[in-house]
Amino acid sequence: MKTLSSVKEMQEFAEDSRLSGKTIALVPTMGFLHQGHLELMEEGKKRADILIISIFVNPTQFGVGEDLEKYPRDMERDKKLAEGVGVDIIFAPSASEMYPKGYQTYVNVKDVTRNLCGISRPTHFRGVTTVVAKLFNIVKPHIAIFGEKDFQQLVTIRQMVKDLNFDIEIVGIPTVREKDGLAMSSRNTYLTPEERKAALSLNQAISIARDIFRSGERRSESILREVKKRIESEDLTDIDYVKMCDSQTLEDIEEIDRGAVLAIAVKVGRTRLIDNCTFERGE
Ligand code: AMP
Repeated sequence: MKTLSSVKEMQEFAEDSRLSGKTIALVPTMGFLHQGHLELMEEGKKRADILIISIFVNPTQFGVGEDLEKYPRDMERDKKLAEGVGVDIIFAPSASEMYPKGYQTYVNVKDVTRNLCGISRPTHFRGVTTVVAKLFNIVKPHIAIFGEKDFQQLVTIRQMVKDLNFDIEIVGIPTVREKDGLAMSSRNTYLTPEERKAALSLNQAISIARDIFRSGERRSESILREVKKRIESEDLTDIDYVKMCDSQTLEDIEEIDRGAVLAIAVKVGRTRLIDNCTFERGE
């Protein structure tokens, strides 16, 4: 396994690999790897000849006052974990390598970024799509793998790939959870033991929603009321949003009469966590 930090070296490696007939899978990450990341990598390993991951805490996707500086980082640990799943290359550029002085181009996906996290983090998705488009041009993957945990991000990237004609297959992987149901996230490391306990209410609320749906309820309001009730029963939680949306357009829906996503964002203490679950019409 090699670690590259230069865009030019990464592009040359990718070009050589393609010329020798090899396929490339890319897993973009911000590092501080956990089992969720590793499952994306295992999928990449299965689907392509060469597995490349990027580790880059992308400044353009953090808003003012967010956790860019304190975002957890541990490159040595990440290298060991990546090596363990057979990663071929870690691409780990510096911020100035990705955004040199004079940088001025951004990718903006419109409609699907308006709702949900787009409301409380208005510049976030522009940063995500910009860095992912750059990574696609640098790593030249045939396939790129993302987690369904960041559901709006996945929808946004699929839209970008379609609109900008990237010749890349996008694969989504179901959310990987801790044994007690908490969705894995690098940000979980911020949680105190009390906050971590309160954070379990997100997944528990999702289970409640599933039960209500299974009993035949289709009205969003009735489901959302119970979801909010469970989360609000914890002292340390502060809901950003709890919404039922069309799983393709991400617009709010009043009734689950098509593919839907229950999307949740909650501050637990000072840590913002997201989670979601999808409902299919025929379920
Ligand atoms: P991050 O490092 O948080 O930017 O995440 C990198 C990739 O891993 C993204 O595609 C995420 O959606 C995905 N990911 C993060 N947490 C999980 C999880 N618990 N299960 C599955 N995928 C995840």
